[in-house]
Amino acid sequence: VEHYLGNIHQYAHLNAFNEVFEEEALQNAVLVDEKLKQGTAGRLAGMVIAIKDNICYQGHEVTASSKILEGFKSIYSSTVVERLLNEDAIIIGRCNCDEFAMGASNESSYFGLVKNHADNNCVPGGSSGGSAVAVQADMCHAAIGTDTGGSIRQPAAFCGLVGLKPTYGRVSRYGLIAYGSSFDQAGPLTRSVEDAALLLEIMAGADEYDSTTSQLPVDAYGAELKKSSGKKKIAYLREALTSDGVDEEVKKVLNDAIDKLRADGHEVEPVEFDYLEYIVPTYYILTMAEASSNLARFDGVHYGYRSKGATDLMSTYKLSRTEGFGKEVKRRIMLGTFVLSAGYYDAYYAKAQKVRRLIKERTDSILKEFDFILIPTAPEPAFEIGHISDDPLKSYMADIFTVQASLAGVPAISLPAGNNLRGLPLGLQLLTSHFNEQELLNFSKYFV
Ligand code: GLN
Repeated sequence: VEHYLGNIHQYAHLNAFNEVFEEEALQNAVLVDEKLKQGTAGRLAGMVIAIKDNICYQGHEVTASSKILEGFKSIYSSTVVERLLNEDAIIIGRCNCDEFAMGASNESSYFGLVKNHADNNCVPGGSSGGSAVAVQADMCHAAIGTDTGGSIRQPAAFCGLVGLKPTYGRVSRYGLIAYGSSFDQAGPLTRSVEDAALLLEIMAGADEYDSTTSQLPVDAYGAELKKSSGKKKIAYLREALTSDGVDEEVKKVLNDAIDKLRADGHEVEPVEFDYLEYIVPTYYILTMAEASSNLARFDGVHYGYRSKGATDLMSTYKLSRTEGFGKEVKRRIMLGTFVLSAGYYDAYYAKAQKVRRLIKERTDSILKEFDFILIPTAPEPAFEIGHISDDPLKSYMADIFTVQASLAGVPAISLPAGNNLRGLPLGLQLLTSHFNEQELLNFSKYFV
């Protein structure tokens, strides 16, 4: 804990943490040490973990990096935190992120942007940018993020880490601040596949507080982790190698991986994905709709910030929300409300639901024929601060490779794939079929 606290102070300019639980982490380290001596310590004893600031931890502030929640304390812990603590993890602090997890660059936080440790002029990715940088700069051993459309995987790629989005329903959403409830999943950002497997094993599984969790038993992802044997069938997206929108070095990393897989006897084939141009619009229509509903609860009455100018119920709602939410969050609430409104519902929301079904079915059919889909995590390496922050459409297009797994609900992992010539990390992504996390982790060992 002292080691990580030292780095947290040294790298404070990266702005990875919204709060560090300094005293508490030191005290917990002493308690865990006692348990270790008595032989009663859990499987995460001594593992120092940071959590994204949209994950509730009883008695601690949780803000989703929004002014509207400033000062709000969780009255209960999320199931994810509960399970980590039961195994004696030490939670060292809560990490900066895009406001309400909406973003791909961690520039929309009320508490300021986060910088990439590999190059301080570049973003760390988002929305779990603080969680990624906390691991990248050795400010904790591992971090927990949330992923709605790439928020674990894309920052992992930009920071040279392993980032895993589990199957929808594998990990409980109880106690996560909801963004897009039919997409949100918590997962680990780590330096190794081993740590990702162990953390998933501990966090995953049925939970009576989240009816969307699966009853399927949880594999011993960590204990059973072994490099896959046998020849695999792998699909890659042809466009990933041909599209002008994909950076040349990103293409090269994918190409090299394909060559190596073939040389090792695996079958690798390009596939067409007819719905490619629809995946980003579909994702944004649906998540904005869900967000507009989920964020209705922040009304200036129940949680956090209330405007000083409030004089009656209407002005409490209006002013608290006007002053409490940032620009991107407001944009999404407005668009989400629009697509759900009478007269437009069928044209946008209902249609997007149908397209989601088509994307899911096509993804499932590829994953019936192939063991994995291999694609880049992001079309580009970490971009410069300010590059997309004024242009929401640019930001949304950064998600082109991550939202497919989110729309389909399948698990996906981003793996470090070396650095580009400027020294910025690149990532490759593997997708597989629902609840096939063990094989996904095992095959990840081939790459790292
Ligand atoms: N960039 C995507 C968005 O802004 C993904 C965010 C996330 O996964 N939380 O919605």
